[in-house]
Amino acid sequence: MKHVIVVGGGLGGLAVALRLAARGHRVTVCEQHETFGGKMNVWRASGFSFDTGPSLITMPHVFADLFAAVGERMEDHLELMAVHPLAEYVYTDGTRFACSASLPEWLDVVRRLDRRDVDGFFRFMKLGAKLFALSRETFLRRSPLEPPDARTLAALRHLPLRHGWGNYHRTVAAHFRSPYLQQLYDRYPTYVGSSPYESPATLIVIPYLECAFGGWHVRGGLYRIVESLVETARRRAIELRARSRVQRILVENGRARGVQLEDGETLRAEVVVFNGDAACMPQLLGASDGGPAPTERSLSGFVLMLGVRRTLPELNHHAIYFSADYRREFQQLFDERRLPEDPTVYVCAPSRTDRSLVPGEGETLFIMINAPACGERFTADWTNEARARIMRKLKSAGFPEIGDDIVVEDVWTPRRIEATYAMPGGAIYGANSHGWRRAFLRPPNKDRRIAGLYYVGGSSHPGGGTPTVLLSAEITSRLIERHET
Ligand SMILES: Cc1cc2nc3c(=O)[nH]c(=O)nc-3n(C[C@H](O)[C@H](O)[C@H](O)COP(=O)(O)OP(=O)(O)OC[C@H]3O[C@@H](n4cnc5c(N)ncnc54)[C@H](O)[C@@H]3O)c2cc1C
Repeated sequence: MKHVIVVGGGLGGLAVALRLAARGHRVTVCEQHETFGGKMNVWRASGFSFDTGPSLITMPHVFADLFAAVGERMEDHLELMAVHPLAEYVYTDGTRFACSASLPEWLDVVRRLDRRDVDGFFRFMKLGAKLFALSRETFLRRSPLEPPDARTLAALRHLPLRHGWGNYHRTVAAHFRSPYLQQLYDRYPTYVGSSPYESPATLIVIPYLECAFGGWHVRGGLYRIVESLVETARRRAIELRARSRVQRILVENGRARGVQLEDGETLRAEVVVFNGDAACMPQLLGASDGGPAPTERSLSGFVLMLGVRRTLPELNHHAIYFSADYRREFQQLFDERRLPEDPTVYVCAPSRTDRSLVPGEGETLFIMINAPACGERFTADWTNEARARIMRKLKSAGFPEIGDDIVVEDVWTPRRIEATYAMPGGAIYGANSHGWRRAFLRPPNKDRRIAGLYYVGGSSHPGGGTPTVLLSAEITSRLIERHET
């Protein structure tokens, strides 16, 4: 049995702590904040409940696997609710349609947009399925530094050579003629904070996963996931230390030996797992490093959370109000690093599916646009401008007038995301996935130089987004079992 300190109580930190405790290790989690969950968090006000981070989960079986690994059943803790339709898409020329989770319904829409795209859709999904089959046994299951085993080599035999290795947007354009469908499928790299014009085509696995496994909400809000993991951790005698910011990771003779907290307290351990942004590691090891290059960072976000007193049955659970020129939007986000003039607006109204989130009448609205990861530059002027652009966009798309019905409101800017979660620039997913290197060679789960030091979470391998973070916890706990016991 080893004593493991997990630095950070986000989803990845909690998941790795539970997996390690289930293998008999003594685990301490040090979280700098009062609450656990990191970006997967909650804000409750005047009877409204908001998830402040994730608003949709995919691959629910990955969540079930975590509960199973610690001898529990997910259904005893959480009620998953399928989101239907998956989303409504709204375009600047007035075109709008729902993306149904039912394949026959969705194919009707595709046929109406361009009948030739039905074939393109099947070819696109087949490519996504092949890429998933390949990555499930390789990228998603193993650390990049592990030598391939027989299952990995078998999976590599099925490498889809055509299209799979090209540019994401060009591959979408090669499968869909309808500009509406092109823009719709081009949106998926933003799930990992990246541009479709710069990402590799392998990210087609993301729309495939959503199509194959659906989009899910959790009754009571996604924060129920964190609450149930925290409850389980307490029952398993995992030591959960809130308000415990780690200032330094202690290394002696090339081996991690524990941590020093901000208040000066030292905690000794045999293994340390870091759940924060891997880009912060140099500072935690005492280097006066200037931080990661801004051009490498993933997107940040500007989020408005609005509790409105009026019930709005005309809204869908998820809706996307696209910009007129998607390429220009990403140029402004990544090349010019400024607020897009015409942002794509994402509106999540989870209270449409789950009335437990509102005080009787009303809706909880989570409204988000992509923003450049430039926390320090996101001034009050930018905040006012971002809010105004969102409201203009929604008004022009016929969104119900809610101005007089807003009861509670909270705003998250890249600056706040950066400061709250210690993510340089406010980048939600660590490094972006532009180009092969950054997409597939993320910081590994085991430190290359320091023995006993490991990483878990969205900024390290295999990447961001809640199911991927849970896969990261699985890889990290397996590496610790292999190297430390
Ligand atoms: C607005 C928003 C919307 C999102 N939407 C979705 C979505 O719809 N679907 C989806 O799957 N994902 C979504 N995500 C991404 C998802 O939230 C993350 O990928 C995931 O929650 C990251 O978990 P993590 O454990 O890697 O890191 P984090 O949640 O960042 O947790 C890291 C923890 O470490 C703590 N920490 C850092 N440094 C220290 C230190 N020195 N000492 C002590 N503690 C420290 C932090 O306080 C934090 O609690 C969204 C994120 C945001 C912000």
